[in-house]
Amino acid sequence: MNETISADRAAAARLEKTVSGSAIRHNMGILRKVGGGRRIMAVVKGDAYGLGAPAISRVVLAAGADALAVDTVAEGVELREHRVAGPVVVMDADVDENAAACVIHRLTPAVANLAQVRRHAAAASGRRTTVWLRTNIGFNRFGPRDEKGFDDVLAALADASGALRVAGMFAHLSSAATDPSETAAQVRVFRGRVAKAREVFGASCQASLAATHGLLHPDALTGTDWIRPGLGVYGLVDPGSRHLPGWPRSGLDELRPAISVRARLLEILTTADIVADGVGYDRTIRLPSGTDLAAVAIGFAHGLARANERLTGVLHGARCPIVGRPGMDCTMFDVTAVPTARPGDWMTFIDAPGPGAAWPAKSAAETAAELGLSLYELLATFRIPVRLTEHATAGSGAEQTPEPHRERSRHA
Ligand SMILES: *Cc1c(COP(=O)(O)O)cnc(C)c1O
Repeated sequence: MNETISADRAAAARLEKTVSGSAIRHNMGILRKVGGGRRIMAVVKGDAYGLGAPAISRVVLAAGADALAVDTVAEGVELREHRVAGPVVVMDADVDENAAACVIHRLTPAVANLAQVRRHAAAASGRRTTVWLRTNIGFNRFGPRDEKGFDDVLAALADASGALRVAGMFAHLSSAATDPSETAAQVRVFRGRVAKAREVFGASCQASLAATHGLLHPDALTGTDWIRPGLGVYGLVDPGSRHLPGWPRSGLDELRPAISVRARLLEILTTADIVADGVGYDRTIRLPSGTDLAAVAIGFAHGLARANERLTGVLHGARCPIVGRPGMDCTMFDVTAVPTARPGDWMTFIDAPGPGAAWPAKSAAETAAELGLSLYELLATFRIPVRLTEHATAGSGAEQTPEPHRERSRHA
């Protein structure tokens, strides 16, 4: 028999990023409940937050997502090339040249300004293109902020009604994870604009405001038909948002983390081996004798940058600090606290405990804080082939230490 092992699988044997399909399905159910049964546009931009947009799209559609949302036309085209068939909304502005691809691939572009209305009307050529109207209520990235500018876009869409059909209207809240009063002000602006849009396009014009953190503000749901969560689908929320008044009754604490990242120990060195030498490039790191170091299979090729001196990995339940600068594929950690450490053991950087497990060994929020990143940046940072598993696989220690909650995954 001709045994071949793919490069991805060989890499995964020493380093893995997994996403749990069952956690995502669970989270879709929670989001449906928290959103009061509203339709769900699942946000799979940025390659589904670094998890692989085609595979994640299939999971969320099977779990009842009513539409998918991406940032760019290229992301939408990629989904179609992978035969993902559901409705796909392109949320951000794109360049002129990409308007035709929306027609060809049945993508639903958002239009926020006059140029976009013109461009998509011109690209429609005969068949009406369905669009969403994106309005700027304070995020200040796409579309006019002032009421007059909004009215002009509405009027242009009304003029272009032979070419464009407006399915709905959405806006992005700028401060939903941090600022209830700012959010309340933006909600008021949005409501006024929805009323205007419904005068023009009829009462069937849909409205969508809340993304994940918008769900912490009940008035951001009132009068809307859709929610648009991204981070929450993956079981994460900005830790700061847990202090908002809306948190305790929101139900978002029922979300389950879906993502894990872990890497294996390759070799263990004691200071007896290296004592006078220093470690790594330029041998700048000097260690007290008695220190045990492990070479761990994760490096800057996978997103670890030089400014990571606060990073820790969890090994057999103990925190192990990074030592020195990451290399391309390997980084040293101080494992002195874990005398039982052995090559082959797994070190956890993001944990996704299975159902019923207690607290994660290391949450994504902790690792993001160590690296000075937002959760969004963190998820995009780890560039590791993703394995979709039925259940989460990360654990806090060695694979050979069975723990009741840990389930070995099958290769998907
Ligand atoms: C990213 C994004 C979302 C999803 O935001 P989360 O905070 O990940 O839930 C929704 N709408 C727009 C316009 C976005 O850019």
